[in-house]
Amino acid sequence: MNEALHTLGVAELGRALAAKSVSSFELAQALLARSAQHADLGAFLCTDAEAALAAARAADATLAAGAAGPLTGVPIAHKDIFVTDFARTGLPSTAGSKMLQGYASPFDATVVARLAAAGTVTLGKLNCDEFAMGSANENSAYGSVLNPWDRRRVPGGSSGGSAAAVAARLVPASTGTDTGGSIRQPASFTGVTGIKPTYGVCSRYGMIAFASSLDQAGPMARSAEDCALLLSAMSGFDERDATSAQRPPQDYRALMLQAREGASAARPLQGLRIGLPKEFFPAGLAADVNGAVRGALAELEKLGATLVDVSLPRTELSIPVYYLIAPAEASSNLGRFDGVKFGHRAADYTDLMDMYKKTRSQGFGAEVKRRIMIGTYVLSHGYYDAYYLQAQKLRRMIADDFQACFKVCDLIAGPVAPTVAWKLGEQGDDPVKAYLADIFTLPASLAGLPGMSVPAGFGAHDMPVGLQLIGNYFDEGTLLHAAHALQQATDWHLKEPVL
Ligand code: GLN
Repeated sequence: MNEALHTLGVAELGRALAAKSVSSFELAQALLARSAQHADLGAFLCTDAEAALAAARAADATLAAGAAGPLTGVPIAHKDIFVTDFARTGLPSTAGSKMLQGYASPFDATVVARLAAAGTVTLGKLNCDEFAMGSANENSAYGSVLNPWDRRRVPGGSSGGSAAAVAARLVPASTGTDTGGSIRQPASFTGVTGIKPTYGVCSRYGMIAFASSLDQAGPMARSAEDCALLLSAMSGFDERDATSAQRPPQDYRALMLQAREGASAARPLQGLRIGLPKEFFPAGLAADVNGAVRGALAELEKLGATLVDVSLPRTELSIPVYYLIAPAEASSNLGRFDGVKFGHRAADYTDLMDMYKKTRSQGFGAEVKRRIMIGTYVLSHGYYDAYYLQAQKLRRMIADDFQACFKVCDLIAGPVAPTVAWKLGEQGDDPVKAYLADIFTLPASLAGLPGMSVPAGFGAHDMPVGLQLIGNYFDEGTLLHAAHALQQATDWHLKEPVL
């Protein structure tokens, strides 16, 4: 068996599979073995070798028949916030919660079904913060995930398992979800590439709901090109999601490769205006993060881009706005976990009310309970106008601020997070510390705009730093184009942790 299979990315694997220099079966075998070898990272919650190898065999048959697409036979893994048909995959769907321990979904999420239809082979499900609430993967009922660059540090969250698995080369790509930064921030903390598309681009059907007006799926991989290949397969209109965007299917790789007018090989980003919001570079921004981000921006300039100053004056307000709206929606969405229809039910109870109380006390973790309480409070009579309605008004203003910026620039850039990955347990039991660290990812989430994290080198303690790029609605093509140009000229995204 080829020792170096795990070093190949999605596009390279697609080519190797098509050329028959490797089979999907041996690839799945090799990566399952590698995942088992590095199980201490805590990235995978479960794998099903039998189902994965059967899917790999089927992919090999498709390849042999000459009917393969670019993802046929490529092994991936899904954040455990996507439900997977238990009968088909043998994989439970838990959302990182005790509430759904062992839950056997009778169907696949649309994102999962589409990636399976594209021929990808699912190796297993990846750890995440409980119901995607968190920034460090420390809120999972199934334990923390370790950052492959330094096992004493967090991988970010909530898609911590998805990020760690790609960074550790356990899979070439994974799925994640981003409600307030959960694709971009863990990608930044682990040195991988991730894109949260425009709200509505990927179907939410079968994605266990956290805050429905914000939740969005996206790929995490090693390069913009690999993300583009996955995004093309997993996105598109879905009649089972009422907020799904009614647009024709997109070939994001073709959009990524589309040359700009006036561009040349040396200056592929000629004419691209990148806005730097002054609020994304505050005086207190960690010097190492600032340095790495500025270094990446200088590279983009060399490639032909022009940097322009812009302002997102309500950046700070996005924290209270998000931490009112997201819990409000969560308190409603999580009402379905009552011990009657899904998952966990308390063993001993006296009556129905007692069963609800005990089930929910036992099934939910501390952060989930905190958010249900905050959300219920801000939606209650007497507080709705003062908190929830005000937050909704500010959300609109934050979205308008972006549109003012896009009058003078094509993309917006800044850091993903104010620091590199912190140490496990460092935040103690102060949830507000983690909330404040979401400052640079929340604005694009509230506006529903697409955002990316692209590796931009290393900061303190040799930990990865991500550059955040934000595009206008449905302009994933420009985002991917800029990220791809950067990755053609630099090698930050190719750096691997020593395990
Ligand atoms: N860190 C944010 C939160 O805790 C974002 C989570 C997410 O995007 N799912 O809510």
